[in-house]
Amino acid sequence: MDLYTEGEPIADTRAPDGPIETRWERHRFEMKLVNPANRRKMTVIVVGTGLAGGSAAATLAEQGYHVKSYCYQDSPRRAHSIAAQGGINAAKNYRNDGDSVHRLFYDTVKGGDFRSRESNVHRLAEVSVNIIDQCVAQGVPFAREYGGLLDTRSFGGAQVQRTFYARGQTGQQLLLGAYQALERQIGLGNVEMNSRHEMLELVIVDGRARGIVVRDLVTGEISTEMADAVVLASGGYGNVFYLSTNAKGCNVTASWRAHRKGAYFANPCYTQIHPTCIPVSGDHQSKLTLMSESLRNDGRVWVPKAKGDQRAPRDIPEDERDYYLERIYPSFGNLVPRDIASRAAKNVCDEGRGVGPGGLGVYLDFADAINRLGRKAIEAKYGNLFEMYERITGEDPYEVPMRIYPAVHYTMGGLWVDYDLQSSIPGLFVIGEANFSDHGANRLGASALMQGLADGYFVLPNTLANYLASGPLEKVDASHPEAVAARTEVEDRLQRLLAINGDRTVDSFHRELGQIMWEHCGMERTEAGLRKAIDEIRTLRDEFWQRVRVPGDGEGLNQSLEKAGRVADFFELAELMCIDALHREESCGGHFRAEHQTPDGEAQRDDDRFAYVAAWEYAGTGQPVLHKEDLKFEYVHPTQRSYK
Ligand SMILES: Cc1cc2nc3c(=O)[nH]c(=O)nc-3n(C[C@H](O)[C@H](O)[C@H](O)COP(=O)(O)OP(=O)(O)OC[C@H]3O[C@@H](n4cnc5c(N)ncnc54)[C@H](O)[C@@H]3O)c2cc1C
Repeated sequence: MDLYTEGEPIADTRAPDGPIETRWERHRFEMKLVNPANRRKMTVIVVGTGLAGGSAAATLAEQGYHVKSYCYQDSPRRAHSIAAQGGINAAKNYRNDGDSVHRLFYDTVKGGDFRSRESNVHRLAEVSVNIIDQCVAQGVPFAREYGGLLDTRSFGGAQVQRTFYARGQTGQQLLLGAYQALERQIGLGNVEMNSRHEMLELVIVDGRARGIVVRDLVTGEISTEMADAVVLASGGYGNVFYLSTNAKGCNVTASWRAHRKGAYFANPCYTQIHPTCIPVSGDHQSKLTLMSESLRNDGRVWVPKAKGDQRAPRDIPEDERDYYLERIYPSFGNLVPRDIASRAAKNVCDEGRGVGPGGLGVYLDFADAINRLGRKAIEAKYGNLFEMYERITGEDPYEVPMRIYPAVHYTMGGLWVDYDLQSSIPGLFVIGEANFSDHGANRLGASALMQGLADGYFVLPNTLANYLASGPLEKVDASHPEAVAARTEVEDRLQRLLAINGDRTVDSFHRELGQIMWEHCGMERTEAGLRKAIDEIRTLRDEFWQRVRVPGDGEGLNQSLEKAGRVADFFELAELMCIDALHREESCGGHFRAEHQTPDGEAQRDDDRFAYVAAWEYAGTGQPVLHKEDLKFEYVHPTQRSYK
């Protein structure tokens, strides 16, 4: 293929060996520490205040480092993590239903369709139990059973109940916990909080990440901030599809700027399409709304057996309904993983059995659960989600089934990091959804919050110390030629965007890009479609740089300018996503290539050729360079995933 070149393979040189249960503990012991007296002389930049960045900044400051924290929202607690609904996994086994660290590890490796690293996933499962203790100590109001023990519920891809939750607002409650810890450190003067600041460039000095260039979104002022290390916790890039369940502001700029400076981007094509979202209702829409996976604990998914059945759902008798997930996957039923549930929904809609406008919907029905448990019990578990659904659709889900359809939700791809969460640029660490690690080709529900908090509270504070302990680094300030060059790049780029003065809005380009991506790099991908998408993206990108209109100037608040920069980066990312999807001639998890499926329509992996992480190196206007990191499975042996 002429779209990329292949470079040297890479390895995760920080990955420990030995028995998997002891790897993290031993690695932690072998890493160097920084003496408390030296910590306060060191500065760490943390970009992002979601669960990953907020927990990391608070913990690093608590340890004694000086932390500079950045987010583009008006308050750190408005990071997108606040939207997380359903819960967070942990191998506590409070239910005594057979859960263990090993089972969480096993479920996650299998759920990721054998495209993640065993060592990382095991560490995640180990640390999961500490997260719950940490959050309870902070006062996070997890749901409790009558006896006072923390309650749990089921999520997809698991047969145990290991998901801890706070109604449908788990992200909000966890983020308030992290935010309080962060505020405490802000109050003590250990964290310098810079909200409404956007990182627009990474500064590299002598091959190490040493700072960032940021724009104050209110005054327009550009400044260069230097540090001993930089941590990116800037979230996922699902908004490349324009319509997604992510907050409108989510974008790829921080990661993409780092990628352009040398950080490898891993598995960009692994996108999670969530099966239970409120269906698109028209062209006016700029955002989609998730209905949490937790609803599949009690909601049953069905469509009419007959094509084109227009009857109201309550008029369709039981024996004319197809509870297709329960039928096809009797073991896991409605709680199959997201990739499987999404494809199944698409298949029944493609067969002409979808419901609602355009036939792009399936029912999620609570009638049985309400009969069995009573309305009050359902209200207590999911009340806020039901209310949200009713406000958006005007339909009462206690009376009529919800209508749902898959939508873009999460990105498993992200900046490549080693076991220490360090990118291919020394001194640049990447945590939370922004990195690629842990989830393979499909993330199980309730595992993103677990990973973000594992990274921020427990992993990074150890591994970053090991990096800093190898110092001291030479003192550099914003007058260093590399810092000045990075700042000039930012200023030039902003001027370039403002000077085009064309006739199309930023949003119109973003929407069109999203349509291309959804059509060709969404739930199902084909070689011909991906090639077409790459051509279309290139043409649209050229048009963007000639016709986009960014009103106003850069001297103050200018949201069009902010969006233009982000969309420009989405264009470059979109092309890489398609190239990655094209080169991966197999189906795995969220990456479904129509050419590679089993006779019954499931994803067909090709372990002989593709059991690797695809780490892409930026090559300017040339072809991106593919570096392969082989994946080894010693404990969970790759098999055809089955949830039947
Ligand atoms: C609707 C919804 C529900 C979800 N529910 C669950 C759930 O129940 N369980 C679960 O495990 N997962 C869930 N997820 C996924 C989970 O919420 C996210 O993966 C996770 O919160 C990401 O956290 P993060 O800290 O990595 O990033 P984010 O929370 O996205 O935070 C990113 C931060 O980076 C900052 N930032 C980004 N770019 C820049 C820049 N250039 N300059 C300065 N700052 C920048 C932002 O301001 C923000 O502070 C859900 C996701 C959605 C969309």
